[in-house]
Amino acid sequence: MLDYKKIRDDFPILKELMNGKPLVFLDSAASSQKPQRVIEAFADYYRCRNANIHRGAYRLSYEATDLYEGTRRKMAKFIGAPEPESIIFTRNTTESINLIAYSYAMNNLREGDEIVVSELEHHSNLVPWMMAAKKTGAVLRHIPLTDDYRYDYSRLHEVLSDRTRIVSVAHMSNAVGTIHDLKRLGEAARSVNAIFAVDGAQGACHLPVDVQAIDCDFYSLSAHKMLGPTGVGVLYGRKKLLEEMEPFLGGGDMILTVSKDDFKPAPLPNKFEAGTPNIAGVVAFAVALEYLKQVGLENIHEHEMALTSYALEEMKKVPGIRLFGTEHMQERGGVVSFLIDGVHPHDIGSILDEEGIAIRAGHHCCEPFMKREGLPGTARASFYLYNGPEDVDALVLGLKKVASIFKVATPAGV
Ligand code: PMP
Repeated sequence: MLDYKKIRDDFPILKELMNGKPLVFLDSAASSQKPQRVIEAFADYYRCRNANIHRGAYRLSYEATDLYEGTRRKMAKFIGAPEPESIIFTRNTTESINLIAYSYAMNNLREGDEIVVSELEHHSNLVPWMMAAKKTGAVLRHIPLTDDYRYDYSRLHEVLSDRTRIVSVAHMSNAVGTIHDLKRLGEAARSVNAIFAVDGAQGACHLPVDVQAIDCDFYSLSAHKMLGPTGVGVLYGRKKLLEEMEPFLGGGDMILTVSKDDFKPAPLPNKFEAGTPNIAGVVAFAVALEYLKQVGLENIHEHEMALTSYALEEMKKVPGIRLFGTEHMQERGGVVSFLIDGVHPHDIGSILDEEGIAIRAGHHCCEPFMKREGLPGTARASFYLYNGPEDVDALVLGLKKVASIFKVATPAGV
């Protein structure tokens, strides 16, 4: 059992008042809150360790480099990467996926090649592939979805062919919380010799990840969703692939040598890390990783599943509520998307905000999915290790207030 009350004490923002009420933070799928020790590591870096990395011929720079590279080693262990060089620091998941699209897809795809995604993907796992498709003449194919927003694995063969070059899917959907079967998807990708890329923005923060067990070629994630600072992302890549790929951005630090007209790229990982990175953010991210490791991803996932089950039960009591997502609980994480009959999701968000409850309303960067479902968007509550059943109770009370303000009737038989 996870002691979420003790955990809450580590997060200073959770003691804040919002609109005069205690903050009930239910938007961790967008970005998580940060524990005191991560905030301190960030400040401490600027207070007494700040120097540019890799090039300085002085102690402060060596120390900053050690800290920065230390995070890389910790990150590699955290997701089971075989070596630290296959961990590339980026700004976020979005940049990581763009790196694959620019450096791999745009250089390797030809007209008529196929990129397999789904209509449930976040824009970050769609638009870079659309851009690559436009440049190369490749086309997007979409994995069919079941009625409860899982990938329809029985129909995977319909979208795979000898033209499939890339299969890129989310670990977990930010819109409806489905956790996808990466093993199965990876096997499918390999069966047609395609690259298998995972958008792990909602994965590594909530679930144990072992990139070697998943056997993926790429895994992208964002530090800010896993207790770390904004402006730090990770791309894990299979070393051989990364070595074969062209650099993404050019400039300082990513070169081995530069002559008047040409350059030679540096070995991994520097080849993909042009310019001064977010050193303070990367350094503080190590502390976030330690925190998550200490609590344990299995425990976090179990806690979120219990909260989600409780939320789904309690939210059913709200008049006019419509809940999205699968009832196969082992295939969903701590995200609950919902609507209340006749109430726009933004109105739900505003009324809850008056009660100090932070949720998200809109298309959640999943416009194709919302269009497919004919939805104006949804309201979304998402849970993390610092949430407890009292947060669900506050949410349900707030939703009942929304229903009463809009005079939503309970449908007969409910
Ligand atoms: N993919 C998924 C599934 C996400 O939830 C998010 C963030 N909402 C992203 C990609 C993009 O993450 P970032 O904005 O940190 O690049």
